[in-house]
Amino acid sequence: MKKSLLFLLLFCLASCKSTYLDSKKSAHLLDIAQEKDDNVFVNLKNYSNDFVYDMKYATTDNFLNKQVYPCAECFLKVKTVKSLLEANKAFLNKGYRIKLYDCYRPRDIQKKMWKIVPNANYVANPKKGSIHNKGGAVDISLVDSLGTELNMGTKFDFFGIEAGHNYQNLSEEVLANRKFLKETMLQHNFKSFDSEWWHYNLINSSADEVSNLKWRCEN
Ligand SMILES: [Zn+2]
Repeated sequence: MKKSLLFLLLFCLASCKSTYLDSKKSAHLLDIAQEKDDNVFVNLKNYSNDFVYDMKYATTDNFLNKQVYPCAECFLKVKTVKSLLEANKAFLNKGYRIKLYDCYRPRDIQKKMWKIVPNANYVANPKKGSIHNKGGAVDISLVDSLGTELNMGTKFDFFGIEAGHNYQNLSEEVLANRKFLKETMLQHNFKSFDSEWWHYNLINSSADEVSNLKWRCEN
């Protein structure tokens, strides 16, 4: 009995993969170019110190008024991180940087959100899933060199026509800010989403599978 348990343990050490994503920060910044598999999930904070994080679903400051993420982490597929780092470089060259509101979202959390608000205008039906569930979508805004958020006309997750790219009844400043964000993201392999100025999908990520990998929070 003891022998078989030991065998199982040794076998597991060699081949059992953790089903959790590692949220522990690496001691040094890693180089995304060294990541050979574009489709694995990685933690953005391990590849750059140049992003601002405001992960709304890890707080109660969101349209659900509920914290649905156990803690604030931004996991994405390697290919998404590659493009996002390039986009952020372009913003940094002009004195701005990306602020993140949401990244990868496990399917179980999509289900949880759907349970709270079962309305496809606000939450993607978990049966089909969202690109957020595939690690190919980000919800973002921009901050200037002082960390002040640019005026985008509405708050993140404002569900009204004013949040859409086609809505023009906004100040010149807001229109210019949205244009700056959109044009730069489009130049770096992302697609915009008509009804939400903050949402960007990596091109060709819709065919990827919905994932339910979760992350453990660091204590
Ligand atoms: Zn989104």
